[in-house]
Amino acid sequence: MLVDSHCHLNFPEFKQDLDLVIKNANDQGIKYMLTVNTRLSESLDIQSIAEANSNIFCSVGVHPHDSKDYNDSSLIEKLKNHAKHPKVVALGETGLDYYYNNSDEKAQIDCFNMHLDTGIELGLPVIIHTRDADTDTISCLDEHPNAKGVFHCFSGSTEFAKQGLDRGLYISFSGIITFKKAEELREAVKFVPLDRILVETDSPFLAPIPHRGRRNEPAFTLFVAKLVAELKDISLEEVAEATTKNFFTLFDKATP
Ligand SMILES: [Zn+2]
Ligand SMILES: [Zn+2]
Repeated sequence: MLVDSHCHLNFPEFKQDLDLVIKNANDQGIKYMLTVNTRLSESLDIQSIAEANSNIFCSVGVHPHDSKDYNDSSLIEKLKNHAKHPKVVALGETGLDYYYNNSDEKAQIDCFNMHLDTGIELGLPVIIHTRDADTDTISCLDEHPNAKGVFHCFSGSTEFAKQGLDRGLYISFSGIITFKKAEELREAVKFVPLDRILVETDSPFLAPIPHRGRRNEPAFTLFVAKLVAELKDISLEEVAEATTKNFFTLFDKATP
């Protein structure tokens, strides 16, 4: 049994065939999914997907790309209200993306800090998206030593993974680890201890090899887990068991 710890099932790419996508995932042994919020305008859509499917959980939060639209303190009340929903098990995705810089850095930092504060207050983990922003990400985390969470779709260095691990975070690997040029990232997979690893698709984006370039879907979590097993020289069953346990330990509001 595997869990896709990060997908976007409300995105238009799944409009036509979501039920089939969920069935495909279940048929491949991906028993649970966490569908992640990127804009508050989509929170209710996401919650309705989680309500309709007992094996799907969801989050509430604002992606760093969109933080310019949500960086006043009213965000905190909105996050708290949505977090009352029984299927909302995490905040995010939030974080810092200085590669695209779709929102200015200050707006991203303010928004990230509000998620971290709220996560601590509610006891919920925070799903962290971070790209080209290692130093500021770590400073925000160091201002919130009690925050728990995950670096999702990890694409950083082994050193950055270590900085996250040292702060109690989990590291979630996606289909990027299957890409030809991701040699350094595969070293990070070997480095991160099995009891701190999650697997995800970030679908509909970033389909792993052999599906690269096509729509990604939760069923493809299997390709990520298989490569993690190969890199760590252990069985797929061990990876499945550990990552599932890790998921329910981190997202402890979710019940299997
Ligand atoms: Zn992300
Ligand atoms: Zn995402």
